[in-house]
Amino acid sequence: MKRFFINDVSLLIADILILLICIGGLYLITLKADLPFKTSAINSKLFVSENLVSNKNVNAGDEIISIDNLHFSKWEEMELYLDAKNIRDAVVLQLSANGEFKSVTVQLKNYYNLFDLIIISLVSLVFIVMGLLVRIRASENNSAHIFHWASVGLGMVIVLTAGYYNIQPFGYGHFNRIIWLFVYSLTPVLFIHFTASFSKKKVKGIKYILWLFYISAIVSALILTYYFIDATVGESERSLQHYVAFFDSFFRIFIIICIILAISICVYAYRSAGEIEERKRLQWLLLGFFIGPFSFVIFWVIPIYFIGHTLIPESLILIFLTAIPFTFSIAIIKYHLMDINLIVRRSVVYTIILSAIIITYVGISSAITLFVSDINHAFPSVLTALAVVALLQPVKSGVQKFVDRKFFRVEYDYREEQRRFLDDIKNIYYIQTLAELIVSRTDKLIPVEKIGFFELSKQTGRVRIIASKGWELLQDRSIRFESENIKTDMSIPVAVDDKVEPGLKIESADVKVFKRWGMVLVFPVKSPTGIIHGFLVLGAKKSGVRFLKDDIDLLNSVVIAVALAIDRIKLQEELILEHLEAKRLEELNELKSFFMHTITHELKTPLTSIKLFTEKLQDKKHLDSDKADFFLKVIDGESDKLRRLIDNILDYARIEKGMKSYIQKPINLNLVIEKVVDSMKYQFMISKQTVEVLNSSDEIIINADEEAVERAITNLLTNAIKYSSAERKTSVSVKKLNGLAAVEVKDEGRGITAEDLKQIFEPFIRIKSIETKKIEGTGLGLAIVKHIMDAHQGRIEVESEIGKGSKFTLWFSLTDE
Ligand code: ADP
Repeated sequence: MKRFFINDVSLLIADILILLICIGGLYLITLKADLPFKTSAINSKLFVSENLVSNKNVNAGDEIISIDNLHFSKWEEMELYLDAKNIRDAVVLQLSANGEFKSVTVQLKNYYNLFDLIIISLVSLVFIVMGLLVRIRASENNSAHIFHWASVGLGMVIVLTAGYYNIQPFGYGHFNRIIWLFVYSLTPVLFIHFTASFSKKKVKGIKYILWLFYISAIVSALILTYYFIDATVGESERSLQHYVAFFDSFFRIFIIICIILAISICVYAYRSAGEIEERKRLQWLLLGFFIGPFSFVIFWVIPIYFIGHTLIPESLILIFLTAIPFTFSIAIIKYHLMDINLIVRRSVVYTIILSAIIITYVGISSAITLFVSDINHAFPSVLTALAVVALLQPVKSGVQKFVDRKFFRVEYDYREEQRRFLDDIKNIYYIQTLAELIVSRTDKLIPVEKIGFFELSKQTGRVRIIASKGWELLQDRSIRFESENIKTDMSIPVAVDDKVEPGLKIESADVKVFKRWGMVLVFPVKSPTGIIHGFLVLGAKKSGVRFLKDDIDLLNSVVIAVALAIDRIKLQEELILEHLEAKRLEELNELKSFFMHTITHELKTPLTSIKLFTEKLQDKKHLDSDKADFFLKVIDGESDKLRRLIDNILDYARIEKGMKSYIQKPINLNLVIEKVVDSMKYQFMISKQTVEVLNSSDEIIINADEEAVERAITNLLTNAIKYSSAERKTSVSVKKLNGLAAVEVKDEGRGITAEDLKQIFEPFIRIKSIETKKIEGTGLGLAIVKHIMDAHQGRIEVESEIGKGSKFTLWFSLTDE
């Protein structure tokens, strides 16, 4: 704080002193004297370049041989001589016109007129004020300090402009001129220093180059001071010539080199700048350089060399020079006050349009009046006005696009990218993809050290990072969102104050917490209905610069678009879920009714025959013992069928609920098969089919739930009976194959098409063909077999050929003996 204060005070004193010196300089230039006509230097000779109305003896084209008997070959030598004279002093000119010599006495007039004086004071004031303003607004910035000195220096160069000096040695004029010499030589170096410190890309060895230039500037200023004093004391032709020769050769070249070097550094930095923002800023510097020093070199320095006089008046050059403080200040305190880019662009667009309108207006009106002579005067104007109105909008957008592309390429690309980004957000259907897009695209537009998208879960009230760069450590952690500690309604971003351009609408962050996590800016992603979906969190900018209004505006529009997109995605998800749920319920209902229908039917059939045969048994009159045996067998068989059916239904219900468990122990497959086939004998008999068991000679032991294996084989045999006609044979075999146990159930039934094979294991699936139409079933049998096999880490395989039969194989692992 103390240091800052001292710096500030000393700087203020320095600036006040400079201002006083400038006022002194301004006074001196009002005293600067000049010949009462224009002159130019051609081939080391001075000529009169206009006729003098008040003196018929001086004509354009006359060669000036000498002034007060001193011979000058250069315009600057004469200027320096006249700088020591007062306005209205008389000087004696030796002129030569067409070989004739004449001596004329003329009275000196003032060098600068009122207009010049106004321009000089205004322009230098602009430089000084801009220098001060930049330093005040961007005080923490080193390049702003250098710019302050460079700009103030340029202001001084302009206002002290080689002013009049007293003939008395060491009068105020001498002081003024010496100060001017030093400032004039140091200012260009300050500009090199500024460009070098301003651009992020540092030129190698620039420190030494800067030292070299600063020293050269001081040495040349000292040499010039020496020559100047020598010339003013002696006032001899030789000493005047020395001064001007040094000034003209070494000094001017030095300045041109400085300007070229500063521009080169700037171009180099521009070309190697990776960030759009950095480029935009350098663009402003380049613009300043091109309008300012470039025009100075083109219209002033070079013409003096080659044609002896300048191409445009000094005051116009000065106006061009003001581009420097303007564009440079924009580059430094970029857009602090307003979007200058936009204003400049608009003005360019409107200037072009205005010119187009004027040309169109003049063109159309003259065309109409040319072709149609006797016409109401108002007519062409009205017609033209209509044409202009019709053209205005399309022309304006056309010109706007053209100007954007031609003059604001970087800006244009940036805005295009921004537009595309906002468009892309609208076309995303998953929150995760959205988060990833935001992270990568935002980082591209505003490169930052860290960036992350945090999702806030409504159910858990916790935030979780779902896409990030630089916060990978946080990736799997979720943090409780303490909404009760939040005082505001979270509708503006929260930021670390000094990392954001002042004056923007933000809420100050708890610096400690933000620092700990490396956060700088947090944007709540809040939907228009007030729901907070999450947060877009950013770390510091890679460029080290503060977040500017442009950035905040962009991020604000991004989070608004994101909030809307999340609203949309959530709505879509809900709709899809609702739709799926409705579909599931519908299917479930369908299945239920189908199931109820089949089950009742399935249950009814065996029950009916049980009932029928029981009644027959009760009617003892017509009953012999053989018949009774048969009836009992039927009842027994039908009850078995009923039991199997109920077992299947119960099993499936358990499977559905995830409650089906199997108790596995070693079982002998040969025995199991015999048992199952035995229990099914009645079914085969009733269906007039045969069954053959091909048991293995080895004992085949597997680890399994016996009841389940029985059920699987029973189901396969039941199907073999159901889907085969009478007189067919079903064989059941068990064997060891490839280190596994294989139970094969092979029938000679109707077979299954390849297409149907894909779905027969699904629950409730029944193949609806004409032949199978009348066959009863629940569609659960194979689904249960599949479940059993999966639970035993086994496999079920089917081979089938239409009309020939099917072979189902159950593969089990053998127990390790
Ligand atoms: P269900 O027999 O009760 O319809 P399953 O799950 O046992 O149910 O069988 C599903 C379907 O597979 C049957 O509807 C039938 O079309 C077909 N299928 C099963 N086994 C055979 C077989 N051995 N021969 C021909 N088709 C069969």
